[in-house]
Amino acid sequence: MKIRIALISFAFGCTCILYTFPLAGQSATTNSPQEGAAATNGLPYRPSFDVTAMDKSADPCVDFYQYACGGWKKANPIPPDRTSWSRYAQLYEDNLVLLRGILERAAAAKDRDAVDQKIGDFYASCTNEAEVNRKGISPIKPQLDAIAAVKSMRELAPVVARLQLEDVRGELMFGPGSIQDPDNSEQQIANLDQGGLGLPDRDYYTKDDAKSKEIQARYQQYVEKMFTLLGDSAVVAKANAESIMRMETALAKASQTRTERRDPYKIKHKMTRAEAAALAPNFDWDSFWKALNPPAFQTINVMSPDFFKQLNSSLSAESLANWKNYLRFHIANIYAGYLSDDLANAHFEFFQKYLRGAQEQQARWKRCVGFVDRGLGEALGQAYVRQVFSPELKASTLKMVEEIEKAMELRINELDWMSPATKQQALVKLHAIRNKIGYPDRWRDYSSVVIATGDFAANVRNAIVFESRRELNKIGQPVDHGEWQITPPTVDAYYDPQMNDINFPAGVLQPPLYDAKMDDAPNYGDTGGTIGHELTHAFDDEGSQFDAHGNLKNWWTPDDEKKFEARTQCVDDQYSQYIAVDDIHLNGKLTLGENVADLGGEILAYIAWKDADKDQKLEPVDGFTPEQRFFIGFAQWDCANERPEQLREWVVTNPHSPAKSRINGVVVNMPDFAGAFSCKAGQPMVSSKVCKVW
Ligand SMILES: [Zn+2]
Repeated sequence: MKIRIALISFAFGCTCILYTFPLAGQSATTNSPQEGAAATNGLPYRPSFDVTAMDKSADPCVDFYQYACGGWKKANPIPPDRTSWSRYAQLYEDNLVLLRGILERAAAAKDRDAVDQKIGDFYASCTNEAEVNRKGISPIKPQLDAIAAVKSMRELAPVVARLQLEDVRGELMFGPGSIQDPDNSEQQIANLDQGGLGLPDRDYYTKDDAKSKEIQARYQQYVEKMFTLLGDSAVVAKANAESIMRMETALAKASQTRTERRDPYKIKHKMTRAEAAALAPNFDWDSFWKALNPPAFQTINVMSPDFFKQLNSSLSAESLANWKNYLRFHIANIYAGYLSDDLANAHFEFFQKYLRGAQEQQARWKRCVGFVDRGLGEALGQAYVRQVFSPELKASTLKMVEEIEKAMELRINELDWMSPATKQQALVKLHAIRNKIGYPDRWRDYSSVVIATGDFAANVRNAIVFESRRELNKIGQPVDHGEWQITPPTVDAYYDPQMNDINFPAGVLQPPLYDAKMDDAPNYGDTGGTIGHELTHAFDDEGSQFDAHGNLKNWWTPDDEKKFEARTQCVDDQYSQYIAVDDIHLNGKLTLGENVADLGGEILAYIAWKDADKDQKLEPVDGFTPEQRFFIGFAQWDCANERPEQLREWVVTNPHSPAKSRINGVVVNMPDFAGAFSCKAGQPMVSSKVCKVW
């Protein structure tokens, strides 16, 4: 999937095992620390293979997910402030408690180093709820004043530029920034991308079924509410909300779909600065760039030219007053979570409660930990790594990565459908992959970010502007291969096709995912599968279009390419049959890369495990054979409960399939699974048409 750290950090495709847990997102727990629980110095132990998580009354050959995870699902209802709950989420929650301890100590310490001052004061400014509430909307008054002072369309562009520097979401019309040149992955170039929407995806505006219409109406009510909180009368707020809906719908209709954006050629349009400006001549690009002040550049990539043509039409179709209101709303929407309760709650009520099904707002301290991680993640991450990621753990997980890579080499050599010429290129690419484990070799330097105890929103803004500026300053620079897109405590992993690297932060290499106390079988099933998943992304429908250097360059013979496409089509067809929620099917094309990675990853993990343990005599444990324990370990990585509202959103926005499909969809394609549980042809967990890509 695509991960976005800041508005202006764009990757062509960055694919991970999960959606990154939104660190400002929704979390709480039933069986991990309650509100007010004491902060800890380490993570609680949760075994990677857990018999109590199973439902042994289920038949593994009928519904393996229920068999491996049914006990967990029953014992772990979704906490009221979350929209889904899973073993990954539990670990994330455990991380929050650990990070809280680090932050509370940093906030209270007398003789602090510069890093502790920044993270401690940031956290303290956030937990000072009384002060945040006392300030109301005053922290965004300078931005609102700047918008109010705009007298002409010409004056709009520089204000947009300055506000975009403070926006992490790309909500203000569009997103400027830097990307790796798709044709020269060692070089950073300027980039423009679509954006400008408040709802989670362009499809929310374009669909006209009953549920979509209801969501549109509720969103408009939310926008109206925000205008009243900004001080507009009821009548004015209603009219403004209607305008915002109309403006965003026009932009949404011209936006690329997520499925389209999986095609790297559809988002590659390199042009001169003048050509980019000509897409939207109604916007004053000269004063925009002057205000944004990036390093000098001549070439720019415009990911979605049609979007900018529509923006141009919208700029003449809508009045200046409407555009000013559009900016006012989005500034309030972007900053709502950092402001007083009235705004934060309105934002929660619509996005988390109505749209995703959460029942309660997350406890403040949890939100605050998330904000620090998001704002100063590589400062907070240093202490986290010291506590939970020993050199031994790094060495053992790196060894597992190398085992999985060895299995991939074996698989490539054995493929019966691929020609020797393409195989050779695939091996070149495999050997060029960089393995990044745990944390960056060089920490980001936040010394220029001003953090003060009493001004939370200003701290957030300073951190965002720092990140925006850091991204912009990459333009014209060589690529830094040491950079990470997620922070060390993040419970996720990713492959980046332009960097051609796999990245496993310390947060994802902890029990119950990687369990140093457990034997290889469940560890390979779980973390081995995750490593294989990321590795396979280098060769999924999207990643396979990039070469060993990360350049968008075809290295396939035409015949092999056709065979590859036929094999991925099998996976597309398989998952398109699955139902996510109600009568809504999965989008087989949107989820194709992740499904291919899930399948390939588990096949690689199985081969690697068999090889790693070939000299050992493996005995049954708890009544399960080593092979059974491998597959149960695999399934238990993703024991999860998901709210129907959240599933409905994920079908549109999430390139990953829901948990049950991610587990059962893989095992039905693995004869080794059928062998391990003595499943027979014709049973639900044995596919009559086995898909196999890698
Ligand atoms: Zn993935």
